[in-house]
Amino acid sequence: MSELISIVIPIYNEKDNIRELYERLKRSLEGLNYEIILVDDGSKDGSTEIIREIALSDSSVKGVILRRNYGQTFALSAGFEVAEGDIIVTMDGDLQNDPEDIPKLLSKIEEGYDVVSGWRRERKDPFWKRKLPSMIANWIISKITGVKLHDYGCTLKAYRREALEDLKLYGELHRFIPALASMNGAKVTEVEVRHHPRKRGKSKYGLERIPKVLLDLLLVKFLLRYRTRPLHLLGGLGLISFLAGFAIALYLSLLKIFEGIELSKRPMLLLAILLMIAGIQLISTGILGEMIMRTYYESQGRRPYLIKEIVSCEERRYT
Ligand code: UDP
Ligand code: MG
Repeated sequence: MSELISIVIPIYNEKDNIRELYERLKRSLEGLNYEIILVDDGSKDGSTEIIREIALSDSSVKGVILRRNYGQTFALSAGFEVAEGDIIVTMDGDLQNDPEDIPKLLSKIEEGYDVVSGWRRERKDPFWKRKLPSMIANWIISKITGVKLHDYGCTLKAYRREALEDLKLYGELHRFIPALASMNGAKVTEVEVRHHPRKRGKSKYGLERIPKVLLDLLLVKFLLRYRTRPLHLLGGLGLISFLAGFAIALYLSLLKIFEGIELSKRPMLLLAILLMIAGIQLISTGILGEMIMRTYYESQGRRPYLIKEIVSCEERRYT
């Protein structure tokens, strides 16, 4: 493979892992055209100095030092921004991923896939705190996004550069890159990779990650289906709510007119009003969403679609 490969690694307080990671990476990448991007996400344990030293002594390594701790997702984004490769590989900096698996991912990319995700089939993490929540999460994410992967949380992944272009990552969205990339037409697959227990340093996450991932999932689902047409979702719900409220109100009015039943004694009247107001609110939010979406695309000259290529046998008429 002659294309340039960028290995992007987010690092937050991993001082005892960096050197070994660096040496094993070099060994696994021998013979390839590569660069290593070590992103220091505001470490406070001396990792920054180690990254600086390695980057200054090896021209295939770039250190990207962030001003403070922004979290893994932004650290990865910063790495993508600096990476020049045609192929981008991400992995953790704690040696839980195995650098020796990288060639396996790359061969799938050569087969024509745009995104290759690692699957830690034998995951070496605590069961209750990590494996069980992530099994449930993977199942839900696969169902909801329609991109079937066993292990979204594995950072060891390889991408064709185009698959990452135009993705803006916020929150904890890095685990959803395969789903977001498939939204732009990327071909996604997975391969089994090895996984090791964390030997040195501490994990940065605990159970507090669960609600964040769930909310991100909701957002991804919205982005996948309604990104360019928020009114269809919100307006649809709003319309249902409004019409239901209207029907109830109509029914109560008819009762009042024809049967003389007093409305003040009917809690259903409250429900009708609530549903109608909620409906109007939802429709207005949908319209606002449409306006924001248009501003997003049009103010930046972006397109809601991506052209892969233009095929033509004609000479270009315009220059
Ligand atoms: N990390 C980071 N910024 C953070 C938290 C984590 O760059 O705010 C890095 C961390 O150094 C590691 C990777 O992200 O290289 C994964 O973190 P960790 O191993 O703690 O996650 P786990 O494997 O426990 O899910
Ligand atoms: Mg880890």
